[in-house]
Amino acid sequence: MSIFVDEFMAGLKAKNPAEVEFHQAVQEVAESLEVVLDKHPIYREKKILERIAEPERVIMFRVPWLNDKGEVQVNRGFRIEMNSAIGPYKGGMRFHPTVYLGLLKFLAFEQVLKNSLTTLPMGGGKGGSDFDPKGKSDNEVMRFCQSLMTELCRHIGQFTDVPAGDIGVGGREIGFMFGQYKRVRNEFVGVLTGKGLNWGGSLIRPEATGYGAVYFAAEMLTTRGETLEGKTCLVSGSGNVAQYAIEKILDLGGKPVTCSDSSGYIYDEAGIDREKLAFLLELKNVKRGRIKEYADKFPSAVFTARDSGQDSNPLWDHKADCAFPCATQNEINAKDAQNLVSNGVYVISEGANMPTVPEGVNLFVEKKLLYGPGKAANAGGVATSGLEMSQNSLRLNWTREEVDSRLHGIMKAIHKQCVDASAAYGFEGNYVAGANIAGFVKVADSMLDQGLV
Ligand code: NDP
Repeated sequence: MSIFVDEFMAGLKAKNPAEVEFHQAVQEVAESLEVVLDKHPIYREKKILERIAEPERVIMFRVPWLNDKGEVQVNRGFRIEMNSAIGPYKGGMRFHPTVYLGLLKFLAFEQVLKNSLTTLPMGGGKGGSDFDPKGKSDNEVMRFCQSLMTELCRHIGQFTDVPAGDIGVGGREIGFMFGQYKRVRNEFVGVLTGKGLNWGGSLIRPEATGYGAVYFAAEMLTTRGETLEGKTCLVSGSGNVAQYAIEKILDLGGKPVTCSDSSGYIYDEAGIDREKLAFLLELKNVKRGRIKEYADKFPSAVFTARDSGQDSNPLWDHKADCAFPCATQNEINAKDAQNLVSNGVYVISEGANMPTVPEGVNLFVEKKLLYGPGKAANAGGVATSGLEMSQNSLRLNWTREEVDSRLHGIMKAIHKQCVDASAAYGFEGNYVAGANIAGFVKVADSMLDQGLV
């Protein structure tokens, strides 16, 4: 590590102790940016990196609610308003027991650069709660969402901060939060994205992150004159992102063979076809069941239970061409990364945020794989949220084809920005450096224009 990155990170860690995911995300970016800061001393002089790594505002609050037995429950709610240099704060809400300040700061920090890459005017934010929707009744989820929004509604707004979904927050949760915002504020505005189609949502928003990650993989393959046709693909997760990544892989002629949840994964050598995908969607979105039921239903699939004592995840240890990690952060450890390389995987497009540990990222870059980091590859979700905001402002709904073609165009534009920025700074073929640099420069220049705020 360089002296500059060492010193910068020592300061950041002292100021934000025990926020390991936040340290990891900032460090990767700082390492990519050193050459940019050398070339443009004004960024150093105006302490742009230090300012970008400090949230503009952090809101942390109590969320009390009653469970179905009438017992009092207390969770913690957060909203990190990270950077508004290029637009209103924008980023999802995550409901998961692992949520704490440092996790959301990592996600908010990534979001700033990701939103910048989308070409749309959106700043970066993130929020959520340590609430676990798993095993809760619809009424419990509703009471929790209403309590959370009763406080959050003071801090967000269509022109200030527009949350969306993330892990544990899908259409159901967005609906309950939107309803409460409307009730308390007495206004029907596009304050959340991922809304239902009848009340301001956009076609293709549910599909957008997964579709976008696959479009990004297809773009990377184009640089080698190849397509996804006939490629075997490993997918992790079975939630929103994974489901639509699988659908788009099928559309483009690929063969998805795995998916997972926190209890384990299935390997279906025959491939997850459209009929099996329909079963998966019903299982996960309606029945809210576990992934093992896929293997109970389809004999071609084998279920492997998660073993937290293992030093690697067997999902990443199958022969394949492409990998789409779509579950959660740090789900590909150093050994998993090595297994992917040994099994011939040479395309990795990250649907999840920061799913690969730094050693894995370094290995993929060193081996010159087609490696699309999350902040570029999964930006289709927030980009389509931006398109939902545009439609809300226009009071119009675009067709499925219109939104999909804009999404596709944005993913191509993100890919081009990564390629151009990496080439301009001497990192040809390195999408990590390309995404970090292109995302940073736009935000940094906007911060310079707006003075010391
Ligand atoms: P969902 O809640 O719909 O699905 C998450 C999936 O990942 C589930 O299958 C879940 O299994 C699994 N998972 C979550 N946490 C863990 C864990 N700690 N260990 C193992 N498996 C886990 O979330 P999304 O699909 O929306 O999000 C997935 C990833 O994509 C996240 O990293 C998110 O930040 C990122 N992302 C999402 C966007 C969106 O538009 N939704 C946009 C950009 C990025 P289980 O149900 O058992 O917990």
